[in-house]
Amino acid sequence: MELLGHFTVLLGFFFLMEGVAWFTHKYIMHGFGWILHKSHHEPRKGAFELNDLYGFIFAIPSVWLIVAGSAEMDWRFFAGLGIALYGLAYFLVHDVFVHQRVKWLKRTQVPYFRAMRKTHHLHHSVHTKEHAQAFGFLFVLPKFYRRYSRG
Ligand SMILES: [Zn+2]
Ligand SMILES: [Zn+2]
Repeated sequence: MELLGHFTVLLGFFFLMEGVAWFTHKYIMHGFGWILHKSHHEPRKGAFELNDLYGFIFAIPSVWLIVAGSAEMDWRFFAGLGIALYGLAYFLVHDVFVHQRVKWLKRTQVPYFRAMRKTHHLHHSVHTKEHAQAFGFLFVLPKFYRRYSRG
């Protein structure tokens, strides 16, 4: 039972992070945090952009929870692990797959992946702080899935 509980915490935090990422993207990164996020809506000049700092910011609670929970392997450890796995998935899908910072899966036929990529490109079709849409990431809303999964 304990293992099931840990796994539930891990998955729970993983999915919670999509909500946190959506909220942060919409209200902070496109709000006062635009100073860093702006770099992600402009052509990148080198290998890195200021927006990458958000990855480190999100890693802080994750590392803190993993360290705090590691002695007793309690829920905090698995919560931190869930956040870390979300970060890894976000990096692989957002930075590698969608933005092709590493050339990989460029011509995928998987409808869900195509919908995810096109939905995020819709977010990037706006280069300003205001008026952007589609702030979520790993979960594609049904309306976007219907629009983008086929072509
Ligand atoms: Zn944005
Ligand atoms: Zn992006």
